Amino acid sequence: MSDSTPELKNLRVLVVDDSATVRLFIKRLLEQAGNTVSVAASAARALDMWRSEGPFDLILLDLILPDMDGLNVLREIRRSDRRTPIVVITGYGGVRVALTAVRMGADGYLDKEQLVASAEKDEFFHVLGQALHLRRAIAERERLQRELEEKNTALERTVAELQAAQRQLSDEHRKFRDVLYSLTEMVLVVDREGHILLANPAASRILGRPIDRLVGRDVKTIGLPANILTKMKEAAESGQEMRLEWKMDTGTILELTLLPLRTGDNQVTGSIMVARDITQERRLQKLRDDFYSMITHDLQTPITSILGFSQLMSSGDLGPLTPEQKEAIEYITHSALNLHELVADFLEYSRIEAGFLEVEPQPVDIVEIIEAVVQEMKPQLERKKHTLTLNVARKPIVVFADPMRVRQVIANLLSNAIKYTPDGGSITITVDTRERDAVISISDTGIGIPKEELPHIFERYHRVRHPKRSVKGVGLGLVIVKEIVQAHGGHIEVASELGKGTTFTFTLPLYQPTKHASHSASLQRAEAATVK
Ligand code: ATP
Ligand code: MG
Repeated sequence: MSDSTPELKNLRVLVVDDSATVRLFIKRLLEQAGNTVSVAASAARALDMWRSEGPFDLILLDLILPDMDGLNVLREIRRSDRRTPIVVITGYGGVRVALTAVRMGADGYLDKEQLVASAEKDEFFHVLGQALHLRRAIAERERLQRELEEKNTALERTVAELQAAQRQLSDEHRKFRDVLYSLTEMVLVVDREGHILLANPAASRILGRPIDRLVGRDVKTIGLPANILTKMKEAAESGQEMRLEWKMDTGTILELTLLPLRTGDNQVTGSIMVARDITQERRLQKLRDDFYSMITHDLQTPITSILGFSQLMSSGDLGPLTPEQKEAIEYITHSALNLHELVADFLEYSRIEAGFLEVEPQPVDIVEIIEAVVQEMKPQLERKKHTLTLNVARKPIVVFADPMRVRQVIANLLSNAIKYTPDGGSITITVDTRERDAVISISDTGIGIPKEELPHIFERYHRVRHPKRSVKGVGLGLVIVKEIVQAHGGHIEVASELGKGTTFTFTLPLYQPTKHASHSASLQRAEAATVK
């Protein structure tokens, strides 16, 4: 071995020893080998230098120091410094202490007396070289261990995160499946290529195939008619929602909604089909329709013949009548007319309740309609000796409304005013405009409506209990009136004072060429409101 191993060069070394001889001896050896050496004669000085001038590449440390046990210095340094090689210097017979020191983190030991006495340079440098190797190996191992631990922790964290994400995903999945499975509507999800991605039990029931014979299959193979397949493709391609009906061979009628299937970034990747079984609904609707036509026919037809024949008889064409007979026939006619009205009201109301009230608005002059109704009701007005005043702000006042329906509203309100006003009363109809509405009010000087009854008069079959009233009616007129006004987007209100009179006021939208003219015929039909 040469004077110094290649490693023992250009090192900053700290030599700690209370013996000046040893310090100098070691310092000289190391400096000759090309190292820089600092020396400390006490533990306190050594720690000071280690703190202020460190890190050193090597520390040689005497274990017996005047102010502190060298082992304490060693412990103190190793607490925070695992990199610097430390070789302890022991006195004669200090091998046991030296071993303790090695256990505490020293990397080798030198017997100082032997060293100084024999001047064994090679042994000296060998020990130091070993110590450097050892410490480097230890430091490296510790570094690797730390690195491994860090990686391990990171890995554990990732695993934990993944597990949590997976748990959440399967929770979401379970919830989603529960919802999907509990739907009574059939749900089919199909990708762009036409493969079924998802199907629920309702789909399985309606299509008559187990779920596992739907999912994964080509949608063309599950018995859907060609037109529906085409529409599904269209929905997926256009990204538009579509609705259609499918009458199955089994007689089941399905209302299908086709929706585009979109990813988070709004790409259409397929289509969703939701189908509702409307067979029962349709059956009921048909029953209802049949019932209405039955009533219309079976009730209206005999009434019409009663009316026809009684009018024929009172005309005298079937032979002369005694005054008593004439009176009886008039009574029959009057009752038949009442019955006719009642049935018509009932039919109308049933239609409204079934959601059949359709209005087809168009530009019409409301004043003209009112004048026509007043003309028709002249006989009733005269019979009760009422005076009627019509106040019209201007003429024409064009509203966007269904003329037949508006007639009905005015006829109902005017007939009420006539009915519920004692003979010789005054009825006033006022037509004006306010912002975008026509405002029509019909007031009378009649019996009025008690305050507590006002909130109820628009309820079906509700009739106010007047003490001495013998007026005929069923209590449907105002229900129909209100439905019609609302179907046009208007509203109706009532003001009344018992014994003084009543005023009904309603609005209808004024015709606005810019807004309403753009409505094509088909749009108008589509917009014709349907009252439920
Ligand atoms: P019909 O269905 O034949 O019209 P009706 O006239 O009794 O029967 P509605 O027109 O709905 O039914 O009116 C409900 C109730 O409101 C009436 O029974 C009456 O008590 C009260 N009413 C309606 N209009 C007036 C009015 N102008 N003056 C006083 N009471 C009225
Ligand atoms: Mg009425």
